[in-house]
Amino acid sequence: MQTDQPGPGTQMPMERLTCQQVTDVIIDYLTGDMQPETKRLFSDHLEGCPDCHAFFNTYNGTVRATRSLSYDAVPDEMRNRVRQFLLKTIAGE
Ligand SMILES: [Zn+2]
Repeated sequence: MQTDQPGPGTQMPMERLTCQQVTDVIIDYLTGDMQPETKRLFSDHLEGCPDCHAFFNTYNGTVRATRSLSYDAVPDEMRNRVRQFLLKTIAGE
């Protein structure tokens, strides 16, 4: 009898994150507001994706730097990302 074991080619829905998803959850990772499972997928993606790895390093460095700088020193792109994040939060997504 067949068991419920997934055969070759079967993919779990959350088996890997796309680059878009990674950039979306980076702020969650940095704020620690991320589920362990997502964190693992996040780390896995960074290991296999130089683009996201570089983006993460830049982002992480920016966040750390801005903690000791004034709000005016935050790059526009960063501000937009934070703004989007806040709008999403306010919208209850
Ligand atoms: Zn990527």
